[in-house]
Amino acid sequence: MPSRSVHVAVIGAGAAGLVAARELRRAGHLPVVFERAAAVGGTWVYDDGAPTDDPLGAGGTHSSLYASLRTNIPRECMGFFDFPFVAVEGAGDPRRYPGHEEVLRYLQEFARRFDLNGLVRLETEVLRVRRDDTSAASWRVSYRSTKLPDGGSEQVEDEAFDAVLVCNGHFAEPRLADITGIDGWPGKQIHSHSYRVPDPFQGQVVVIIGYHPSGMDISRDIAGVAKEVHVAIRSEPPFEMHRTTAHANLWLHSMIERAQKDGSVVFQDGSRVKADVILHCTGYKYSFPFLGDDDETIGIHVDDNRVGPLYKHVFPPHLAPQISFIGLPFKVSFISYLHQLIGRVSLFHCFNSKATGWLEFYPEGLSSHQKTR
Ligand SMILES: Cc1cc2nc3c(=O)[nH]c(=O)nc-3n(C[C@H](O)[C@H](O)[C@H](O)COP(=O)(O)OP(=O)(O)OC[C@H]3O[C@@H](n4cnc5c(N)ncnc54)[C@H](O)[C@@H]3O)c2cc1C
Repeated sequence: MPSRSVHVAVIGAGAAGLVAARELRRAGHLPVVFERAAAVGGTWVYDDGAPTDDPLGAGGTHSSLYASLRTNIPRECMGFFDFPFVAVEGAGDPRRYPGHEEVLRYLQEFARRFDLNGLVRLETEVLRVRRDDTSAASWRVSYRSTKLPDGGSEQVEDEAFDAVLVCNGHFAEPRLADITGIDGWPGKQIHSHSYRVPDPFQGQVVVIIGYHPSGMDISRDIAGVAKEVHVAIRSEPPFEMHRTTAHANLWLHSMIERAQKDGSVVFQDGSRVKADVILHCTGYKYSFPFLGDDDETIGIHVDDNRVGPLYKHVFPPHLAPQISFIGLPFKVSFISYLHQLIGRVSLFHCFNSKATGWLEFYPEGLSSHQKTR
């Protein structure tokens, strides 16, 4: 046990925030998890009511899941090592690459099993995190409850914490492709953040930008109902026009060169289609609105979608260990959050008790996991 329990604000109750809360409490600290949604699970809380008046997701706060989504890595690689993501006999989705409901079931079961729900303040949005030199605690966290039926209380509350763990995810604020001529193009644009089901694209000609996991899934989804689907892909050397796929009405193209007033979308290889919709499957931006950008800023910047300065994508060197970030790398699964956490919690521990390192309180450490992979 540490000599002094550290009062920690954890922002977000997705996979990162939940495992953070568990590890902090296990190390004898006092986490409080702030979650603006009405349930724990983060990204995996499916929201079928994505706002139709904001198809490009400018106000993006809701989850980015679409109805057909299945995991793109096997369940064995997603579970925490002492709480494996295994199929439950007779319940849920037993597939190795299960649907999104199964991941939510797993995360909510994780929260129940380790008694984390009592640590989470649901429907409570963190508005501001500031350094506080006036009290023994290092940070002031301002937050507002959104629980009330009229959209929440205007009253902003304030609380002091010794440390802050930022676990707010990075799949909520859409990144859009920059398309010459798009302002005069008469069709409809949408970002994958707001895509849920293919039905609205019945009989339409759809241009999809991007062919990473979301672009692949959504193009196949839509090809089942649309007249034509054209996917613009950034790759070298440029794809030939109309490279065919397994779907008779789905083609791969080079990137878009421009969009025109007559409704045409012109690709870099000179080919063109008249399209009804452009669907951006172009990823997301990091966003930390609660960290502020004025004089009180804590000095963390997002530059060209890179967050810094951070050591190992976790610690700002000038403020470690009082503030840190869990889950920033894009190509990781839940288990790596735990790896980051072990380092994070052990720093608190070392600062407080002159412990020799994480092995002292977490003897099974990473090695047991590494052996099983
Ligand atoms: C379409 C899609 C498919 C994916 N597929 C896979 C997959 O197959 N396998 C895989 O391992 N990963 C996948 N991922 C990545 C997925 O994001 C991670 O698995 C994981 O869920 C991220 O967890 P997190 O806790 O970092 O963030 P999130 O799950 O995004 O949780 C962040 C939480 O913070 C809350 N929050 C944000 N700001 C505030 C605030 N100011 N105040 C209070 N609360 C706040 C949010 O409401 C949210 O609940 C996918 C992601 C997407 C978008």
